[in-house]
Amino acid sequence: MKKIILSIIFTLFALSAFSLSKSFDYKNYTLTAYYPESVQPGDAVFVRLCFESKNKNFIKSLSTATKESGSLEIFRVKEDGNLNEKATSKSLFYKIEENKTKKLLRSVLLSGAPLSTYAKTGDYSAEVAFSVFGEENKISLPVKIIEKEFVSETIPLNASNTAIKTNVSSERMDQINRLNKILDTKNADAIYFDAAFNPPNPATRRTSFFGDRRIYAYNNGKSSTSLHYGIDYGVPTGSEVRACAGGKVVMAEDRISTGWSICIEHLPGLYSLYYHMSELKVKVGQMVKQGEFIGLSGATGLATGPHLHWEVRLNMEAVSPDFLLGDFTFKKEAGKKKN
Ligand SMILES: [Zn+2]
Repeated sequence: MKKIILSIIFTLFALSAFSLSKSFDYKNYTLTAYYPESVQPGDAVFVRLCFESKNKNFIKSLSTATKESGSLEIFRVKEDGNLNEKATSKSLFYKIEENKTKKLLRSVLLSGAPLSTYAKTGDYSAEVAFSVFGEENKISLPVKIIEKEFVSETIPLNASNTAIKTNVSSERMDQINRLNKILDTKNADAIYFDAAFNPPNPATRRTSFFGDRRIYAYNNGKSSTSLHYGIDYGVPTGSEVRACAGGKVVMAEDRISTGWSICIEHLPGLYSLYYHMSELKVKVGQMVKQGEFIGLSGATGLATGPHLHWEVRLNMEAVSPDFLLGDFTFKKEAGKKKN
């Protein structure tokens, strides 16, 4: 019961985060940046940059020969106002939209930097660097990291689950390396979906949460610790699983630890994963729409019972799936008409 209440609180929090915008006027163009007021450990900081100009050289300058432009890094702000340690590695901006009317040129870039579940609370600065008309510019956007509690749990594993967890066969290592290689791929052309995600099924019963600090107790008396990267929905085998967002299927196979598994690419470096399924309905290379039926849940791989594991990765780092259910790329916000 306590877990269910916690989960409802987490979800409400994720959906109610405020976004802010700031406009900057330059000689030949204006820039409006959309960013979150606050985030929690395990969320990501997304920044949407909307450039507008009446200068015809503008788009050429911003996007010459590249779909990647500029970078985003999050730093902790010290009490004296100076920037301290880096909270994320450098993330690139990708061009997600470009349009042109008779009078106006508009180019939109998006970048997301994932925050560790161990990120400290406090004041941070999103440092954005970009280059337009051959001129380097920098803006700083204030972001707060607010507290989030994570669950700690011990999971006893029987003999067969212990065997899976301690399996160091070359087959399992190959599967892990291959998936890591996919998740580490940032394909600038993969601009498939930039709005709020949906949950992969309507179940509300969660048996594990994102960021749970886990101890696996093996049947031989030994144990290991791990972080739970996704959300587990307690649903019976055969429940329908749907794509949380539009994208391209980049993995669909049976894996030793995660059973029948699917990975969908949504944006450069942003992927969703579905584990322990009983049946897959999609193939690698297939494009799927948000809400499309992709398979049936099950209990394959390392599972103590039937459930659906849903996970989201950004630049390799697991981020809270609940965070993605809100308007995390500020698509709606940026689409509002300005006064
Ligand atoms: Zn799980």
